[in-house]
Amino acid sequence: MSLDLFEAVKRKIEEVYPFLKVNKKREVVRLVYEILKSGIKPDFLFLPKYKNYEQLKKNLIAVRYPKSFNEYPLNRFYLPELNLKKEDSFTEKSDFIKIEEVVAEKSLKDSKIVSNIIKKYPDVKIDYIENFKSVKKSLDIAGYNKRSKRLYVIKENFDFLKRCPCTKKCLSCDYFVLNLGFGCPMECEYCFLQGYQNFEGIVLQSNIEDYLKKTIDFFRNIKKPIRVGTGEFTDSLVYDDITEYSVDIIKEFSKHKNIIFEFKTKTLNIDNIFNLPPASNIAFSYSLNPDKIIKNSEHYTPPFKERISALKKISDYGYSVGFHLDPIICAQGWKDLYRDMINEIFSLMSPSKIRWISLGTFRFKPDTKKVIENRFKENIILDEEMIIDFDGKLRYPYSLRKEAYLYILNLLKRKKMDINKVYLCMEESDMWKEVGLAPILKW
Ligand code: SF4
Repeated sequence: MSLDLFEAVKRKIEEVYPFLKVNKKREVVRLVYEILKSGIKPDFLFLPKYKNYEQLKKNLIAVRYPKSFNEYPLNRFYLPELNLKKEDSFTEKSDFIKIEEVVAEKSLKDSKIVSNIIKKYPDVKIDYIENFKSVKKSLDIAGYNKRSKRLYVIKENFDFLKRCPCTKKCLSCDYFVLNLGFGCPMECEYCFLQGYQNFEGIVLQSNIEDYLKKTIDFFRNIKKPIRVGTGEFTDSLVYDDITEYSVDIIKEFSKHKNIIFEFKTKTLNIDNIFNLPPASNIAFSYSLNPDKIIKNSEHYTPPFKERISALKKISDYGYSVGFHLDPIICAQGWKDLYRDMINEIFSLMSPSKIRWISLGTFRFKPDTKKVIENRFKENIILDEEMIIDFDGKLRYPYSLRKEAYLYILNLLKRKKMDINKVYLCMEESDMWKEVGLAPILKW
């Protein structure tokens, strides 16, 4: 459908504005395509008759971006060439996590991860390489679509732990990231990894003991509680049946009470964690979205109800829990969707059991837009207005972000959630102030 629309728009622009030069025509094609795809206008009847390009462009931007047109200068509207290719489309399969090939560093032949993979997938093809460094580091969209068939098992030597880079000009939540795992097979249409990953496969590091040691050494002399987590460049538990990272992490960090360790997940791959005694400094937090958005925009994640039941089970067992409303997607009807979702969460969970909640509206590097619109041509997540904002990322306009945060915070307050446990992820300090959040986290 969107491919047909794209072709129709190109033909129409050629017919109505034959005088435009190539680059100007490209901008007009993108604007008109987006206006029609997002349903702002039903057909080509709105096309203005201007001969002057600047007037034409302004007029089309005002139609495509009615909320942001008066809020942002013209150079904040991102108008790269639209180039949709059929062969780049993502196609959903029923066996999403079917691993066809393992590529392991030779020295890791007898590692726990390799033997767990062989036990679970006896038919898997195994290749050995000297070092992951030799793997080609460049990836197009077609390669990205195939990445989850291949697992790399490697030994990490340098990149163990780092402070979350957050984003420039944002208020940081003082988080540390344990770089365990890279890549994820769950195919969320909004995933930032699509614009970030540069090799075809998913990496699992076998030397978990080095990660644990580095972290403990790093925080040895820090007495205040420090929040550390996996789940920045992958889902923390998606391969936990193979890696058993959770077992090693819980066993070790439950002895270090100044480390608040967070597993961020959407999966139900949680069996391992119930074989250990729970500890309150070990937290599991689920990324949640209303079911309609999950069905539309996440291809291999469990439904909302299953995630919240898992969260409750983990909390009842004795671990800490939290959740992330990130990315908040302002698709059609979003207010009703988020209200219903928050009602459902608190019908199952007491607010006193929630250790933290993060809120973050949808955002990504501009280049990623071309990947999303090509892989997921019928997406609904790009229909809302997104402009290049303070940190160079595409975001909803400030006014819409503020409206979303205020709306959700108000719903949380009505449920008697302690707002001191709520924080904004990657947001300007002015936004924290304007929505009434203190920049000090009390988790
Ligand atoms: S679960 Fe997270 S890491 Fe995995 S595809 Fe979705 S957004 Fe990306």
